[in-house]
Amino acid sequence: MVQDNLSRLQELKDLDNLSKEDLDLLSVPYKVSYRELVIGNNRYPAWRIIYSNDLGPGKGGIRYHQDVNEDEVQSLAFWMTLKNSLADIPYGGAKGGVKFNPKEADRKELETVSRAYAQAFYQVLGQDVDVPAPDVYTNSQTMAWILDEYEKKVGHHEPGMITGKPLELGGIKLRSDATAQGGYFIAQEMIKEFLKERRPQDIKIVVQGFGNAGLFMAEKLAADNFKIVAVSDSQGGIYKEDGLDIPALSAYKAAGNNVSSYSDGKAISNTELLEAEVDVLVLAALENQITGDNADKIKAKYIIELANGPIDLAADKYLDAKGTVIVPDILANSGGVIVSYFEWAQNRTGQILDEEYLKGLLEKKMRNNWQRMFSLYQEKGNVSLRQAAYILAVRRILAAKHWRS
Ligand code: NAD
Repeated sequence: MVQDNLSRLQELKDLDNLSKEDLDLLSVPYKVSYRELVIGNNRYPAWRIIYSNDLGPGKGGIRYHQDVNEDEVQSLAFWMTLKNSLADIPYGGAKGGVKFNPKEADRKELETVSRAYAQAFYQVLGQDVDVPAPDVYTNSQTMAWILDEYEKKVGHHEPGMITGKPLELGGIKLRSDATAQGGYFIAQEMIKEFLKERRPQDIKIVVQGFGNAGLFMAEKLAADNFKIVAVSDSQGGIYKEDGLDIPALSAYKAAGNNVSSYSDGKAISNTELLEAEVDVLVLAALENQITGDNADKIKAKYIIELANGPIDLAADKYLDAKGTVIVPDILANSGGVIVSYFEWAQNRTGQILDEEYLKGLLEKKMRNNWQRMFSLYQEKGNVSLRQAAYILAVRRILAAKHWRS
């Protein structure tokens, strides 16, 4: 993954006249911290990596997963650096992870791991240093344990050291569907540019992943009358040519069912969902869902990346050459970190900002960031949306580096 990121940076050298020195500056992480968390007889490898802090403190989630490794954490920290820069918020980029299987852990063990993480890394965290948030298999309870342990270590309150907290500890209501809300504004902008002559009910959309990001996104698109013909979760998908009843399906999922057993539609596999004959494919599940192995089977002309890194480098190149329009993750899913920034700003100032005002600010930022990316895409004429997004993000980071040097 790190190698893929370096290749993507290398492409920018020609596309935006980056010097070798510029590339070198962007190619190494600022600080890699590694510890072993000793829990009973187990030792869990754990990382916190600040890729860059040129624009502000590190910012990025903490992931609990049995496959977490340094390459992955560093790649995710790199993406956060670009995402935060493109989002025009005052953050560098960071990520953390613990290598263990959270699905096999009970609540007590999850708490012990979270508190051990805070003890191991408290010196490299802080509201002006590096600010974690939830990621895969971590949530507001995890953030609460880490905050509590951190505050015990430093001896004072500091809610701004972490975001995605419970409301009572300084969290923010808007956070729950912020990623989907932001992605929805971006989907509207994309449709306005590329599909403006079509009516919503004639635009067929599928959504891979029916969790926090995908479910809320499907609900918002369905409310706008778009035809959601298929959705899926980890157990498979459900398809209906005339469009699924998304509110009913959401209720079915909320009751603890998997979408593939829903009666009003045909059960399909995730492979069938990805390869369906539709206009828009929303990827909201996992990394590396479209790779060099299946890229030639993807029929959707438009893809929105709500998940982080759902398309690998080989597939990205193939689809770009074929003319598929891909809205990149660093823009499409940035609503989550923008709302995290609102939470952090409230915590730091002690002010409580009006929710309607913050909703408006999120919308303004998302639409404005799309416009900046799309204008550069049109102006350059020879870049993809992803490359346009990368160029903007890299320009801002390099400008900050140059002011500092
Ligand atoms: P989630 O755990 O709430 O949902 C993930 C969904 O994907 C679940 O419905 C799960 O069943 C499904 N899934 C898992 N494997 C699948 C497979 N092979 N095929 C189809 N579906 C599968 O997670 P989330 O918060 O919705 O995050 C989804 C993606 O969006 C992740 O890549 C995450 O990093 C990214 N993201 C989320 C946020 C956020 O605020 N939630 C912010 C930025 C990026």
